[in-house]
Amino acid sequence: MVKEAVKHLKPYIPELTLAQLKEKVGLKQLVRLSANENAFGTSPDVAKALDKWHYEDANLYPDSNAAELRSIIASQFDISEQQLIFGNGLDEIIELLCRVILKPGDEVLDPEPTFSEYALHSQIEGATLKSVALDESGRIDLNALANEITDKTSMIWLCNPNNPTGTFLGPNLIQSFLENVPETVTVIVDEAYIDFTGNAHDSVIGLTHQFRNLVVLRTFSKAYGLANFRVGFAVCSEPLIGYLQAVRLPYNLSTFAEIAATAAFKDQSFVQSTVKQVISERQKWEHFLIKAGLPFYDSATNFIFFQVKGGDADELHQYLLAHGYLLRNGLRQDWLRVTIGKPEDNQAVQSLIEEFLGS
Ligand SMILES: *Cc1c(COP(=O)(O)O)cnc(C)c1O
Repeated sequence: MVKEAVKHLKPYIPELTLAQLKEKVGLKQLVRLSANENAFGTSPDVAKALDKWHYEDANLYPDSNAAELRSIIASQFDISEQQLIFGNGLDEIIELLCRVILKPGDEVLDPEPTFSEYALHSQIEGATLKSVALDESGRIDLNALANEITDKTSMIWLCNPNNPTGTFLGPNLIQSFLENVPETVTVIVDEAYIDFTGNAHDSVIGLTHQFRNLVVLRTFSKAYGLANFRVGFAVCSEPLIGYLQAVRLPYNLSTFAEIAATAAFKDQSFVQSTVKQVISERQKWEHFLIKAGLPFYDSATNFIFFQVKGGDADELHQYLLAHGYLLRNGLRQDWLRVTIGKPEDNQAVQSLIEEFLGS
């Protein structure tokens, strides 16, 4: 009745809504630091732009081409408008890439651990997934990945910075890797968190001019604070971009989503202020973890992955939840991922962890 690959899936478990979760744990106040949402909200220009929308347009289909958003993004990144494809969140682009490229028996390489959607959609297409361990510093091991390439390899996923470890590889390392990967292998660099490195030159979008097998992914859900609006995009060159456009659902981006993303993108000062606050709070988190003796990976993102030795991670997770803070567990035994929140929430969580460790 259904294809074999689907029978064996472990589906993505989405977050409960905040309201559902509060009811479940019986709390009035709950701060979610488990989904890497932007703790600082989104640009105030988004609300202003949406207020100008006319309800009389409700019966009309949106602009399939997302022309306004396309134009400002292309000029910002110095790429042609034809190199861009938009998705209903980056999730949809990840699905689309797998749908267009993979066939049963193809091999897909990804780091371990990384964002789980790559594995899910590769498996739905019947591809064989080979996951390659990170190096000791939690970074993606490019040499180990290169060693796994065979004539069946179709796709390689590089989440950079990597979720959940937060670790980052410089663009020069990715360029050398691309120089050694056969052109028949599509290399996808997911830059969902790249804004949080604080350096605009860290992106490999520019390399799409040079490497036709490179796809770079971006989302409005993290630094731009628009997770609810579902806007992500990919940058790549012909011929792949043409095939992706042919398979994409024609109206996958609502007018609301396009208006919100356009307003957010134009307000780069909001993004810069978010990034500045995240970097400053990230440093405080690092100092705290060092002082508390909890091992962690160097993060270039709006989250930190840290270890609670001795099997206490789940207990700490429960303790924090009971005090109104939800972190992410279950990504690796003994490890928790915390999204960098507002200063007062970070401080509260750090005090709770101190209490927990001291007791
Ligand atoms: C959050 C996240 C995404 C998904 O982004 P959406 O645009 O909200 O679908 C993609 N990749 C990584 C690594 C993420 O952490």
